[in-house]
Amino acid sequence: MIGKAIVVAVDGPSGAGKSSVSRAVARRLGLRYLDTGAQYRAMTWWMLRHGVNVADRQAVTAACDKPVVVSGTDPDDPAITVDGQDVAEQIRTPEVTAAVSAVAAVQPVRDRLIALQRQIIAAALAESDGVVAEGRDIADVVYPAAASKIYLTASPEARAERRNAELDGADGSDGEGPVAEDTLADLQRRDAEDARTTRPLEAAPGAVVVDATHLTLTQVIDRVVELVEAVRI
Ligand code: C5P
Repeated sequence: MIGKAIVVAVDGPSGAGKSSVSRAVARRLGLRYLDTGAQYRAMTWWMLRHGVNVADRQAVTAACDKPVVVSGTDPDDPAITVDGQDVAEQIRTPEVTAAVSAVAAVQPVRDRLIALQRQIIAAALAESDGVVAEGRDIADVVYPAAASKIYLTASPEARAERRNAELDGADGSDGEGPVAEDTLADLQRRDAEDARTTRPLEAAPGAVVVDATHLTLTQVIDRVVELVEAVRI
């Protein structure tokens, strides 16, 4: 262990590159990695799978303590399982993406997942050099004591472009992904829905803003590593 274990909070809107950046930073600094969005997606996948109407808050509330969501924290292999089933691929489908904001807006869902996130962060602090936790509310709600708080953002167009590239890569296609305007509209819809629950479009107090619009992925990673190293004792 190098000095004191550290929590790095990386928040920001959809498509800003939080996952790629957070995983790479964790790898470089020898830290664990926690993808909180994957947990909300896993909860949503379970609801859809079990026929729960995600627009019905009471139904979501009644069901939300049933699924057992387990997150791995290895940045090279951030596994996510629900009731023992690996759902890493299933949670990235358009169906889950379209439904996740509604599920994440239900407070008992948040209470349950935030408690789980705090447990994972506490375990990482006890057992390793710390953790890079990414989401929408890490710095202001989940772990306000984080030593390093990053707000990672980019212009809506840059985020849509990045998301399209990811979708093209994910399905092995040759660039025949959704048209950019659709992706942009989808990201903006999700930002607006998420803004009713968290603050994806503003930096938490004490967070350093990193605008990735005109930076390469490597430049963003370098910048975040530099910011973390500056506060690491
Ligand atoms: O980051 P990702 O796009 O995978 O997040 C999926 C969704 O999970 C977000 O659109 C948001 O509704 C929800 N979320 C949240 N709080 C977090 C992380 C994600 O509400 N900390």
